[in-house]
Amino acid sequence: MKCDQQMNNHFIDVILPIPLQKAFTYHITMAEAGFLKPGMRVAVPFGKSKIYTALAYKIHNNPPTAYEAKTIHQILDNKAIVTEKQLEHWQWIASYYMCSLGEVMRAAMPNAFIIESETIISKVEDTSVNESDLKDEEFLIYEALQHQSSLKIQDVITILDKKRVLPIINSLVEKGIVQLQEEIYQKYTPKLVRYVRLQEHYKSEKKLQELLEILSRAKKQREVVLSLFQMEAVSKNAIKVSELSEKSGTSSAVIKALIDKDILEEYRIRTDRVNFDGEVTSTEKQLNIHQQKALKEIVTSFEDKSVVLLHGVTSSGKTEIYIKLIETQLQLQKQVLYLLPEIALTTQLVSRLQNYFGEKVSVFHSRYSGNERVEAWNNILNNSEKAQIIIGARSSLLLPFRDLGLIIVDEEHELSYKQFDPTPRYHARDAAIVLGNIFKAKILLGTATPSLETYYNALEGKYGLVEIKKRYNNVMMPEIELVDLADMYKRKRMKGHFSERLIEEMTEALEDGFQIILFQNRRGFSPIVECTTCGNSPQCPNCDVSLTYHQYRDQLRCHYCGYNSAMLKSCQACGNMTLDTKGFGTEQIEEEVKTLFPSRRVARMDLDTTRGKYGFEKLITRFEQREIDILVGTQMLTKGLDFRYVKLVGILNADNLLNFPDFRAHERSYQLMTQVSGRAGRTDFRGKVLIQTYNPNHNILQQVSTNSYTEMYKEQLNDRYNYKYPPIFRLIKVTLKHKDYNRVSLASEWYAKSLKQFFKINVLGPEFPPISRIRNMYHKNILIKIPQKQSLQKTKQAITKIDNSFNSVKDFRSVRVIINVDNY
Ligand code: ADP
Ligand code: ZN
Repeated sequence: MKCDQQMNNHFIDVILPIPLQKAFTYHITMAEAGFLKPGMRVAVPFGKSKIYTALAYKIHNNPPTAYEAKTIHQILDNKAIVTEKQLEHWQWIASYYMCSLGEVMRAAMPNAFIIESETIISKVEDTSVNESDLKDEEFLIYEALQHQSSLKIQDVITILDKKRVLPIINSLVEKGIVQLQEEIYQKYTPKLVRYVRLQEHYKSEKKLQELLEILSRAKKQREVVLSLFQMEAVSKNAIKVSELSEKSGTSSAVIKALIDKDILEEYRIRTDRVNFDGEVTSTEKQLNIHQQKALKEIVTSFEDKSVVLLHGVTSSGKTEIYIKLIETQLQLQKQVLYLLPEIALTTQLVSRLQNYFGEKVSVFHSRYSGNERVEAWNNILNNSEKAQIIIGARSSLLLPFRDLGLIIVDEEHELSYKQFDPTPRYHARDAAIVLGNIFKAKILLGTATPSLETYYNALEGKYGLVEIKKRYNNVMMPEIELVDLADMYKRKRMKGHFSERLIEEMTEALEDGFQIILFQNRRGFSPIVECTTCGNSPQCPNCDVSLTYHQYRDQLRCHYCGYNSAMLKSCQACGNMTLDTKGFGTEQIEEEVKTLFPSRRVARMDLDTTRGKYGFEKLITRFEQREIDILVGTQMLTKGLDFRYVKLVGILNADNLLNFPDFRAHERSYQLMTQVSGRAGRTDFRGKVLIQTYNPNHNILQQVSTNSYTEMYKEQLNDRYNYKYPPIFRLIKVTLKHKDYNRVSLASEWYAKSLKQFFKINVLGPEFPPISRIRNMYHKNILIKIPQKQSLQKTKQAITKIDNSFNSVKDFRSVRVIINVDNY
């Protein structure tokens, strides 16, 4: 072996899915060197006894100097499953966001691709397996799983009596027979739609005539049968119960009667969001002149800019413009990536696009099971027909695109494009621009409320800028009225948290048959419980925050760690039964609305009501179908939803948005309020928005109510200059965490002092954040501000150096350090 190694000097650097600073080098044979390509998976031994799935990165002839290279176990792929462009992009992410390539790999690849020794496998339920399709070894495992619910990789090794078992497991995963344990997700159950057909034995002309005879006295039933017959004759598509009912002009009760008589047969098909099997229903819409002009400007702008910002007011019809741009790409046979802030919140958009593009649309959904993800991955990798348009949230950036022509970043200002935890802490908009450039593709950022940094880049000429100031249909922007809470309370014009004005407007909107959205950015009943005798309020035992009261469960809950306990009867400190609640959340608002409007249907949309399976989708559908009159919710309500009958939007309290301790609080308040206002009056009537506040003269509120984005921008940018914040300065935040208060303090002092030697006054902290302890860990933050002319690369090198020395101090080794580049 030794001699063999010396004779052929072939090595491979692999990426392991763990946070290693460097790629790891293994020895390979000459034949392997000839076969392996970057992006193929190999199984490798690591540490004492672990096996990992690693990704081939570089094939070369240089033995590692620090250790003796082990040999790989085996090659798992026949061809690369990660593309070179992908690797290039991952490399950028790792270096820009200061993490390891392995961490990017871990975030990017479906778990099913990276089997390792700790992995546990189990059988996929409800799949039909053709046993003769299985190879002998596959069959052995399949059989073992009939008797045992799960197997460890080690068990598989024992069963097969061989070490190198990963390819066999891979193949079973690919065949959809086994799944990896950690991925027993709740499966995405698609909606079932009811279809009907004529029972088989009536299909002949003769039988049908007889049937019509029999039904001659049941006129309506006869009508149904005739309609169905006609429909089946003209279209091969399955026929929905609802379509038949419409076409024949009869009620579904008549259809049911025919089903009961065994004349019609009912069946259900999943309208699967993975496999779109509906028809393309929407015909193309004609753009209006504003949209046409914008589209033309975008196309022109793309001639010399790779990024264009489409700044169009809410409901200006941006989506229709995206659709035109996508069409052009499809004609060029290019792939399109459509990024959305949160995929769960976008069922509306998905169906809109599917209605145009049918099965060319693939959704990359975080709730998909391992196998579904593998399928999506492969479709994209093979540039298959199904994967021409990929819709997904931020992680879909990491997929194996072949020939990307356009990336759309919808609602580019959304905070959820930034990944905070775990690493890689990337911003999907920025990473999308880099990805686009790798493909020489175009990037369109769309929003009604651009983030400050994007607008800045547009004004600086880095991005093209295209604006639409008119709503589609020329509906006026909603009328916004500020309601002065101080005054209302003084004049006793309040019922609970509702001003008289808000109640008046609500009453009117409801009487006119419209729907209402009420926005409150806190969930729960009340965020603070306080004893009126001694002032004590119950705190989370793990975090440094007060517990929120949730009335529905009569519980106190921590919104940071999930801790909960039953609501207390008396104060823990003084024992008096004088606990009172302060502040209010969505739960309390919902309750008050129900009392104010007892005959109306009220629902609530926040984390608590949408956690369950499809909770969100169900609420949206019910609201769309007008089964709900008033919807109370948190910022979930702001995400680009398109409802047709919402006339009134109420913001219960603008002040806690404005007072949030963050340099972006004002910018965000503007965006949130403008976006939620944008849900009102989207069709042909003007919407109305009421904002309740103690500070009606606040500049941001004035700017929201007059729709003055540019004024907001100028004022905020000025602040950013003065206080050295983005987009004028860049930020890197270093967070240190430890369960011991003193240790985290000492460690962060050391860290900050070292940073200050390099960056002088541009280092802030260390400082406890407003919530200094979460899940029993104390946090301390250090903020590094980077002037525009300072090299980002050198800055990061210096930080890495400091971080390395920090880790070599024994006392600090147990302190967790989190480096967050562009931490906003
Ligand atoms: P935005 O994304 O800018 O908020 P949307 O694209 O959702 O706006 O458009 C708002 C509404 O106007 C949608 O209901 C959409 O179907 C409709 N709409 C937009 N453009 C057109 C068009 N050219 N023809 C018909 N309807 C349109
Ligand atoms: Zn807690």
